[in-house]
Amino acid sequence: MITPIIDLHCHSTISDGLFSPEELVKYAHSKDVQVLALTDHDDIDGLDRAREKASSLGMTFINGVEISVTWQKRTLHIVGLNFDHHNEALATNLTKIRKGRDARAIKIAHGLGMAGIMGALEGARSYCKDGSVGRIHFAQYLAEKGHAKDVKSVFKKFLTPGKPGYVEHVWANLTEAVAWITGAGGVAVIAHPGRYDMGNKLYPKLMNDFKLAGGEAIEVVSGSQDPSQSEYFAKLANEYGLFASCGSDFHGPGISFRQMGQKQTIPSSCRPVWDKWPVIKKLINDDKN
Ligand SMILES: [Zn+2]
Ligand SMILES: [Zn+2]
Repeated sequence: MITPIIDLHCHSTISDGLFSPEELVKYAHSKDVQVLALTDHDDIDGLDRAREKASSLGMTFINGVEISVTWQKRTLHIVGLNFDHHNEALATNLTKIRKGRDARAIKIAHGLGMAGIMGALEGARSYCKDGSVGRIHFAQYLAEKGHAKDVKSVFKKFLTPGKPGYVEHVWANLTEAVAWITGAGGVAVIAHPGRYDMGNKLYPKLMNDFKLAGGEAIEVVSGSQDPSQSEYFAKLANEYGLFASCGSDFHGPGISFRQMGQKQTIPSSCRPVWDKWPVIKKLINDDKN
């Protein structure tokens, strides 16, 4: 029996990924991924292109998006999966978030300008293909210009609280973002929970608030969190009656350690999120036979 490789979290040039939606799907196919969701930041413009490419390669495609939210003064990411991409409310609200992101980029550039770094907005834009300018694009530009030794150091030196390029930004609220996803018939998923470093008190509170808002799943397995954390999040998922999801959070080869196409096994104690989707369940059962 071969379990299909399922990747429900990755990025294209529509947000901060390296590959166009078509290239990304082709790449996933070359890595034997059979079920793929494209989850660009606050943008669903790549879905039609990715779906078309996936269907031409015989892959199963799932609509996705990754929405930035503010919860308890922290920025969290909520992935939406398998929603109707024609839903107007979702599209309108995502446009609003992107406008906020653009306004933030102007403020970041202003802060950097005050610190003597000119032309940062244009520089960051040159790293951003189709989507809106994010902090990663500033970091790439500043690293290229030698303001710090690498992208990670730029974040530390310029983009964190107290530093010239830091801008406090309020995203959507958790309850709203979950409602947009569920309102479009999708499943809301807490992305890479391991990255939030919240401690044993705040995680259960997040699960509780998320569940009350109508959230249904959590990335128990993610390319952007330590594999040793899976067990803790599997436990939380089960405690709060949430489904488990998995994804690479791939942005491009060499951009980070996150790789696409690696088998990411959801602990057997968990209910995988695709249990809700007959088309994937069938694929898995067909594979078993
Ligand atoms: Zn994320
Ligand atoms: Zn992501």
